[in-house]
Amino acid sequence: GKEEEAHGHGHGHGGGEVAAKPDAHDGKSENDLLVMRAAIAHVIGDILQSVGVCIAGALIWAFSDRWLDENGISYWYRIDPVCTFVFSILVMWSSFGTTRDAVHVLMAGAPNSIDTSAIERQLRGIRNVVDVHCLHSWSIAMDKHNMMAHLMITPGADSTPVLYAAQKIASAAGCKHTCFQVEDAGTYDKTKETCFQQYDAPPIVDGSYTVV
Ligand SMILES: [Zn+2]
Ligand SMILES: [Zn+2]
Repeated sequence: GKEEEAHGHGHGHGGGEVAAKPDAHDGKSENDLLVMRAAIAHVIGDILQSVGVCIAGALIWAFSDRWLDENGISYWYRIDPVCTFVFSILVMWSSFGTTRDAVHVLMAGAPNSIDTSAIERQLRGIRNVVDVHCLHSWSIAMDKHNMMAHLMITPGADSTPVLYAAQKIASAAGCKHTCFQVEDAGTYDKTKETCFQQYDAPPIVDGSYTVV
């Protein structure tokens, strides 16, 4: 029939797209929320489309014998493609936010909840840290954030307390997966650095050494 042709959309309703893996953390994760938001938008969009198609069908059924064009076909039939365009715009509008958030994660964007310049200040504030560079934070899921950074320390300083402090800062910002590269300012040759980020000139802490 005319209705099925005009509205024949072929998306699956198998339920696979709402199946979220059980999360190790307590409560509803942001990831679950993103999946639920997408599923709810899908269901509500389909309800509105179905209702719209019913109304359009009723109007065509009731009025197809009047308001005829030069070929004797009612203009009311055109409500069908109009519905299609209106609902396609509605679907694009309702899925924009979810798509944007998903693309942000897929493109390894910095999590919105993390202020990287504040994190860098905190890392620089760790005792014996003289420089922080190559600080990166990204998400592997909506609620699973990673952080990596290079931490240059005063020559011969014990790296373990520095790592503990850095992990604490990262964890407080929601980054449970961390990788901190410790560079001893006394021995680390900056020309061996493969990171593309530029160094800030490390401050001379006690004046007794120079950074290579
Ligand atoms: Zn880097
Ligand atoms: Zn480095």
